[in-house]
Amino acid sequence: MKNVPELFGSMVFNDAVMQARLPKDIYKALKKTMQIGTHLELDVANVVANAMKDWAVEKGATHFTHWFQPMTGVTAEKHDSFISPSGDGKVIMEFSGKELVRGEPDASSFPSGGLRCTFEARGYTVWDTTSFAFIKDDSLYIPTAFCSYGGEALDKKTPLLRSMEAINKQALRILKLFGNKTAKNVSTTVGAEQEYFLIDKEVYLKRPDLIYTGRTLFGASPPKGQELDDHYFGAIKPRVAAFMKDFEEEMWKLGITAKTKHNEVAPAQHEFAPIFATTNIATDHNQLAMELLKIVAGRHGLVCLLHEKPFAGVNGSGKHNNWAISTDTGANLLEPGETPYENAQFLLFLVAVIKAVDEYQDLLRVSVANAGNDHRLGANEAPPAIVSMFLGDELTGILDAIESGAEYLGPDKKPMEIGVTVLPHFPKDTTDRNRTSPFAFTGNKFEFRMLGSTFSTAGANIALNTAVAEVLNEFADILESSLNFNADLAALVKKTIKAHKRIIFNGNNYAEEWVTEAEKRGLSNLRTTPDALPTFIAQKNIDLFTKHHVFTEPEINSRYEILMESYCKTIHIEALTMVDIVNEEIIPAAVNYQNDLAKLLERKKALGDFDCTMEERLLAKTSKLCTCLIKKLDTLEAAILKSGEDHDILAHAKFYRDEVFTAMNVLRLTADQLETCVSKKHWPLPSYGELLYSVS
Ligand code: ADP
Ligand code: MG
Repeated sequence: MKNVPELFGSMVFNDAVMQARLPKDIYKALKKTMQIGTHLELDVANVVANAMKDWAVEKGATHFTHWFQPMTGVTAEKHDSFISPSGDGKVIMEFSGKELVRGEPDASSFPSGGLRCTFEARGYTVWDTTSFAFIKDDSLYIPTAFCSYGGEALDKKTPLLRSMEAINKQALRILKLFGNKTAKNVSTTVGAEQEYFLIDKEVYLKRPDLIYTGRTLFGASPPKGQELDDHYFGAIKPRVAAFMKDFEEEMWKLGITAKTKHNEVAPAQHEFAPIFATTNIATDHNQLAMELLKIVAGRHGLVCLLHEKPFAGVNGSGKHNNWAISTDTGANLLEPGETPYENAQFLLFLVAVIKAVDEYQDLLRVSVANAGNDHRLGANEAPPAIVSMFLGDELTGILDAIESGAEYLGPDKKPMEIGVTVLPHFPKDTTDRNRTSPFAFTGNKFEFRMLGSTFSTAGANIALNTAVAEVLNEFADILESSLNFNADLAALVKKTIKAHKRIIFNGNNYAEEWVTEAEKRGLSNLRTTPDALPTFIAQKNIDLFTKHHVFTEPEINSRYEILMESYCKTIHIEALTMVDIVNEEIIPAAVNYQNDLAKLLERKKALGDFDCTMEERLLAKTSKLCTCLIKKLDTLEAAILKSGEDHDILAHAKFYRDEVFTAMNVLRLTADQLETCVSKKHWPLPSYGELLYSVS
C-alpha cells in the first residue's frame, strides 16, 4: 500500500515547500505576487529560483523548462540543463531569477494566425506564479503564459487569466452591493471529467488511421457494441486497473487530485475526474492528465485514444466542464444560501449565467468546435449542437413564478419574495437528472458538457467567464445607481428571466422535436465547425472580448484563422490517410482474396464437374465492390486536388466539409462492406471487434 498523503504533491514546489525553503520575507513577497499579481522583483526571483533548483536537484532533476500551451492543442516545452561551467573543467548547477520569470523560445513555428511575422519570431514565456512548478522526467517545469514580441497572446493561458480577472472584477462589484466586505477575490473553479479509450498497442500499430489521425477511418460494425450497456460502471479489467493505479499515482505526485475512475458506456471507454480547482490550475492539470494518460498507457502496452470519435457506431469521448464561482473566503456563489440575502444573491448570479449563456450561445459553441467534435455535436450523438440549459423542475418552477408574479409556494408553503425569503433546498437528485443537456445546473455548479475529449478547458472557460463578466457588469451598473435596492433587484431578476427563459430546456435534448422547438425559440443550431466559427468574429463578440480586455481584435482574428485552418488540415490529413490505406492495404487485400478465389475456381473447373456457385458469387460480389471502391476513391482524390483552389478561409473550410468529408464517408461505406466480404486472413486492418475488445 502506498502512503498517499506522502506521495501527494511530492513532485510539486507547492506552498509547503515554499514555506520550508524560502526566507520569510521572500516567501511573503512571492505570496503577494501570487495573490494580487504584484511585480516580482529580480532579487526575490533570484532567491526563489535558487531554492527551486536546490529542491529540484535533490529530487534528481537536471533540467528546467518553461511549459506553455500554444494554439497547437498540445503543450510545449524546451529543456535547458542547470549546468554552468565553473572554470576548472567542471560544472555547477545554476538557475537564475531571470530564467525562472521569463523565457524567449523561438516562436516562429507555432501557429499565430498571422500575428507574428517570422522576422519577429521571438515569443516570450512568462511565469504564471499562481500555478506551481513541478518535476516531471527529471525536469523542473515552470507553468507559463506565452505571448509575442508585441504582447499579443499566442497561447490559451493568457486569455484565460484575463477572463478570470474580468469576472473577478465584476463579481466583486455585485458582492459589494450585497454588503460583502470580506471577499477580496472571486475566481471560477473547474472540475474536468475526462473520457478516453484504451486499446492494445499491438492492434493500434496495425491501424495507420489511428496512428495518423487518432480515429478509425474504416471499420465495419462489430457484432457487439454498447447495446447491452454492460460496460458502463462495470468491473474494471485487471490490465486497465493496473494502468489506472499507475496513472493516479503519477497524478498524485504532481499534486493533481485524481478522485474518480470508472468504465464508460462504450467498450474500451473509461473516465477520470479530479477534484475541482481554480480554473487556470484545473486547465494545467487537465493538460497534464491528458499527457500522462498517453505516457502511462504506453508503459502498460496500451494506447490511450483521446480523439472525440475514435470509433463509428459507439459513443465518442467528451469532457465535462464543471464550473462554479467562488470567493477567496470560500463561498460558492452558485450555491443557494441559508439567508434571504444570500438567496437573492444566488438568484442574481443564476440569472446572470442564464443571460450570458443565452446571449453568447454562439461563443460557447465556438469554444467546443473542431473537426473531431463535429462527429458528436452535429451528428446523432450527445450532446447536440444546440446550446440550452437544464435547471431542473424545482428551480424552473421558482423562476416561472418570479416571472409571472405568482406566489411560489416552496415546500414550507410560504410565498417567496426575493431578498426577503429563503429559497427551498434543492436536493442534488432533483437537479441532476438530465444527462442529455449541454449545460446543466447540478445543485451548486453548472456542468458544460459539450467539450470534446481533446479540448483544453481554456477555450470554454474563456467564453464562459467573459460572457458572465459582461452580464455582471451590466447588472452592477444598474444596481449601483439604485435607490431602492430590493425592488430594483427583484425587477432585474424578473426582467432577465422573461428575456432569456428560451434557453432553458429540461426535456430530452436528443429528441428530434427539440430541434424544431429550438428553432421556434430562435436558438442557434450551429451543426459544424464552419457554421460555428464565423460567429467568433461577429461584432457583438469582438465587442465583448475587447471591452473586457480578454482578446484584442487582431488576437480574435488570428484565432479564427488558426481554428479554421486546423479544421481544414485535420480533414486533409484524414483524406490522404484514407487514400493511402485504400491503395496500399485494402485494394491489395481484395485482389489477393479474389486471386485465391479465382485459383480455386480454376482448379475446381479443371478437376471436372463441381458446383462453383459459391466461388463465382463471392468473386462477383468482391469484384463489384472493388469497382465501386475505385470510383469513390477517384471522387475523393478529385476533391482533395480541388481543395487547393479556394483562397477564402471560410469557403475553404466549407469545401472540406461538403466535398472532401462527404467523399470520405461515401468511400468508407463501400470499404466497410468489402471488409465483411473479404476473408479475415486477407484483411490487413484489425477489425472493430479486435480493437474494442483488445484489452483483457
Ligand atoms: P458527476 O457529474 O459524475 O455526478 P460530481 O457532480 O460529483 O460528479 O462532480 C463532477 C466534477 O465536478 C468533479 O470534478 C468535482 O470536483 C466537480 N465539482 C464539484 N464542485 C465543484 C465546484 N464548485 N466548481 C467546479 N467543479 C466542481
Ligand atoms: Mg458529470
